[in-house]
Amino acid sequence: AFGFDVQRWRADFPILQQTVHGKPLVYLDNAATSQKPHSVIDCERRYYSELNANIHRSVHELGERATAAFEGARMKVRRFINAGDNREIVFVRGTTEAINLVAQSYGRNLFQVGDEILLTEMEHHSNIVPWQLLREQTGAVLRVAPINDAGELMLDEFEKCLNPRTKLVAVAHVSNALGSVNPIHRIIELAHAMGAVVLVDGAQAVPHMAVNVQDLDCDFYAFSGHKLYGPTGIGVLYGKAELLDAMPPYQGGGDMISQVTFKQTLYNVLPYKFEAGTSNIAGVIGLGTALDYVQALGLDSIAAHEHDLLAYATRLAHDVPGMRLIGTAQDKAGILSFTLDGVHPHDIGTILDREGVAIRAGHHCAMPVMEHFQIAATARASFALYNTRDEIDALFAGIDKVIDMFGRQQRGAA
Ligand code: PMP
Repeated sequence: AFGFDVQRWRADFPILQQTVHGKPLVYLDNAATSQKPHSVIDCERRYYSELNANIHRSVHELGERATAAFEGARMKVRRFINAGDNREIVFVRGTTEAINLVAQSYGRNLFQVGDEILLTEMEHHSNIVPWQLLREQTGAVLRVAPINDAGELMLDEFEKCLNPRTKLVAVAHVSNALGSVNPIHRIIELAHAMGAVVLVDGAQAVPHMAVNVQDLDCDFYAFSGHKLYGPTGIGVLYGKAELLDAMPPYQGGGDMISQVTFKQTLYNVLPYKFEAGTSNIAGVIGLGTALDYVQALGLDSIAAHEHDLLAYATRLAHDVPGMRLIGTAQDKAGILSFTLDGVHPHDIGTILDREGVAIRAGHHCAMPVMEHFQIAATARASFALYNTRDEIDALFAGIDKVIDMFGRQQRGAA
């Protein structure tokens, strides 16, 4: 309907052209990690077969080339999120490391007893635990803004949690357990009005929508490459230059210094101050290639396609007896979390796997969300640019099988 030829893009993903348990693979676990296009796989292979050398301060040709490719990827990331300056792009292992970096470098040095950190009830554990560690170190206080039964942040309650003691707000752009898209613009406005800085956990947002950090005016933005069709083990922390500049290093080692004596060490300039040791060079360059790929399709086209899949799946879900959607927010991105009456989500996942359908079952590293809905786990199907309506049909055919099997079991037991 919008000129998005999914079969054409799908052909770029070699892993999808296989069968599992004799059935075509239907990969619907994209929120955990997405598959990689040929271009990214080739880029990794080419890096190690043609380019591999350590970067920065190299006096030989390979080192120069590797450095150019590495710094070129930094530029691609800057453009991808529309940051104003390459110095604001710090390469880390992933979202988790980015958040820990901010907690330890920004928070640990600035926060005092009674200072408040405001989170939401829908955060991933990686946007909860680093702040709890910081609480133990500094005596800071954690506050949690609640969600409603649709899985939406209650903005009025969020606003009530803000006060002059709020030093930092750490919030997911998109919830990985519910799919809810947070009103991030408004959240940032409200937090800034109270003088708090804002860290956005963008792990589940960047694969599904165009992100513009200058337009958002967020202070920190974190994401992972592997959910964005890029390699594992590489991610990005964006931070405003003036904030990063004032922060002490997170780790010490090579590349993050400008001068070392046993008496005193001078730190390197941004962003190298935060990139101690040899980076995941292949990962960085591969991430750059993944961004090229996504931008060639266009995030708006991807978003439209995924919205169509989600709307289709949601319609089908309403006709399935005993199926309960967890997360029915107005604004959702690419995630269908659900339960089936009388069936444990792990059984749903196992039976679907026999049909070639890969989903995730569990608490999705968001146990407070499970607690809110008073469930232990959900089954979660999550969509990517290469998924099709036929695959949604396969998911629901599998769900019918699950219901059939458990219905029969219950009738047998009665
Ligand atoms: N935040 C959210 C919302 C996530 O979905 C994830 C990954 N499941 C993370 C943080 C952590 O990302 P990573 O494991 O790549 O560091």
